[in-house]
Amino acid sequence: MAKIIDGKEISARIRAEVKTKVEHLAARGITPGLAAVLVGDDPGSRVYVSMKAKACAAAGILFDEHTLPADIGEDSLLALIEEINKDERIDGILIQLPLPAHIDERRVLESVSPHKDVDGFHPFNVGRLALGNPLFRPCTPYGILKMLDESGVCLDGKDVVVAGRSNLVGKPMAMMCLARNATVTLCHSHTRDLGRKISAADVVIAALGRAEMVRGAWIKRGAVVIDVGINRIGEKKLVGDVEFEAASKRAGAITPVPGGVGPMTITMLLSNIVESAERRFSPWRA
Ligand code: NAD
Repeated sequence: MAKIIDGKEISARIRAEVKTKVEHLAARGITPGLAAVLVGDDPGSRVYVSMKAKACAAAGILFDEHTLPADIGEDSLLALIEEINKDERIDGILIQLPLPAHIDERRVLESVSPHKDVDGFHPFNVGRLALGNPLFRPCTPYGILKMLDESGVCLDGKDVVVAGRSNLVGKPMAMMCLARNATVTLCHSHTRDLGRKISAADVVIAALGRAEMVRGAWIKRGAVVIDVGINRIGEKKLVGDVEFEAASKRAGAITPVPGGVGPMTITMLLSNIVESAERRFSPWRA
């Protein structure tokens, strides 16, 4: 049976480290700050923002929330972001997605200062990651990298299959594995014979958004399996993108859903905010 990679436990450890760093910053007169911008009243987005507010409060990070009406004009939103870009109390800016249809999401994300882009979505940060010199890394794949590190998985020379090529997870994940000297195969909806590719992998990272699509029988014996998927089955049940029971009989280590990758995302957001606050001591921000 595979070892379970426990995201809750790793996350708690990293949050404790973040808290210590916040205390060190406080001793130097600095409180790290996050500004969250929420447009409209989508209930899902509200829940996410309140989870982030709670996590910031627990870590000692200032949380400045801007809730704006759904019909706000794009120019007003851009003006607010410009103000926050200049606000010296703020180290990170989070634009809660999705934005209403009349707002150009790309334009808004690009208006965030790359030096406060703690989600790592700005083209500047995507470029830095692609060049192997990251400033901010997107939180979910960064969390996965931490989980692998904390579990003693070395990626050097390994065959890694990343299934899913979203800008949020798959693509940056592939870049991060490449930076660790893995040989990366990035699969997507046009990939032929996904099973064959996965069955050759030492490490499988599934970010498809397709319930249990990765069959247990595809997993190479001893492989490490990271399941990013969150798929709701009926009212209560959550399953990942990997057929967990069957895969855990073959894998060397595997993340569960829930309790695997999920808890890491907000943790890495906190970590990025603190990294950003630490850069206040640099001659320029980054
Ligand atoms: P997405 O829908 O943007 O991307 C899915 C990717 O999977 C696409 O690149 C697509 O090409 C690929 N794909 C779809 N069907 C395929 C198929 N049949 N064969 C091969 N590839 C296929 O999704 P996303 O934002 O990357 O998220 C993926 C999953 O991870 C979702 O379940 C999402 O809820 C979850 N997620 C979890 C966290 C977290 O745990 N914190 C964060 C982000 C996303």
